[in-house]
Amino acid sequence: THGNLGETLIPAINKLQDIFSQVTIDFRLDLPQVAVVGSQSSGKSSVLEALVGRDFLPRGPEICTRRPLLLQLVKQAAGSGKAAEWGEFLHCPGKRFYDFERIRQEILTETERTVGHNKGISDKPIRLKIYSPNVLTMTLVDLPGIAKVPVGDQPSDIEKRIRKMVLEYIRHPTCVILAVSAANADLVNSDALELARLADPEGRRTVGVLTKLDIMDRGTDASAILRNEVVPLRLGYIGMVNRSQADINTRRSIRDAIAAETAFFEQHPAYQEVKEQCGRTALSASLNRVLVEHIRASLPTLRTRLEEALEKCNTELRVYGDAPPGQTNAARGALLLQLLDSYAVRYSEMLDGRSEHLP
Ligand code: GDP
Ligand code: MG
Repeated sequence: THGNLGETLIPAINKLQDIFSQVTIDFRLDLPQVAVVGSQSSGKSSVLEALVGRDFLPRGPEICTRRPLLLQLVKQAAGSGKAAEWGEFLHCPGKRFYDFERIRQEILTETERTVGHNKGISDKPIRLKIYSPNVLTMTLVDLPGIAKVPVGDQPSDIEKRIRKMVLEYIRHPTCVILAVSAANADLVNSDALELARLADPEGRRTVGVLTKLDIMDRGTDASAILRNEVVPLRLGYIGMVNRSQADINTRRSIRDAIAAETAFFEQHPAYQEVKEQCGRTALSASLNRVLVEHIRASLPTLRTRLEEALEKCNTELRVYGDAPPGQTNAARGALLLQLLDSYAVRYSEMLDGRSEHLP
């Protein structure tokens, strides 16, 4: 499996979103934003790509992400027959990008349009929607990394500016923070953990992500960090191996990269005891737990809204008099709402462990 968002995230969220995507009434299961923070080149964009399971973000050894990217994933009902996945930029309305390489190109072009060719940065976000049956409807935010020394056209206070920009996104209580640190640098100097702690002092919505486990100094490994013994995080850490720059240069495929990551964790003795915290599937699972928690918290509100809408439909139905049930839109709407309502009830039962299956 690809381990991308949607395939490994709990199928129930998928199912619910499938249903919600088919009703025309305004119900949405809003998942919180997920933002990546960390030093420049710590691997933030690579982590997001690993989550989405597609290649489309500019990545590299220098500053690549120079404007925030608001990546809105939109779940499409599966099997609609049309070309499965495409991207659309807010700045090119109506234009569908089916080729993900062209999406990457457009991100670069649009970055340069506002901040020039020489490493300048801006807090003006690029908005990209990805439509796909393989994602959950949610927003991921790719942010510029913390850089300490200005280069090119960057202002002298570059670090301060980037920190302010990042905090602006992650301070919201609904934002899940993926705090990305490279395993080949000292964790106590991690910008990611420092920023995450500022925004989320109790660590309720911060997931630690440790990248580059493959290029740690010989004789060292990250098992103590993964066991949460070094800089403890309430939600713990996930270790990852993403593509190296050489892999990117030789255009190593995602499939290959996943196989390499799996093999790495299979054979490395240090990670046998912390396997559940290693790799992209583990990251999806961890994110999943955070998202399910969020949904659990929002279910009562969702139910209330469903009940209100149901009541409204029933009232409307009575106005129409005795049209045979199932014949009018209102009747069909009411039926659908009843189904949804019972679904929401069953779903909360399932979360509480009272029921195993969804209807
Ligand atoms: P960002 O600046 O934080 O968004 O980092 P990128 O995702 O652009 O990655 C920076 C560089 O590190 C790129 O050249 C990646 O190929 C490389 N990289 C990222 N993750 C890993 C990893 O797990 N292992 C190795 N070897 N290289 C990685
Ligand atoms: Mg980046």
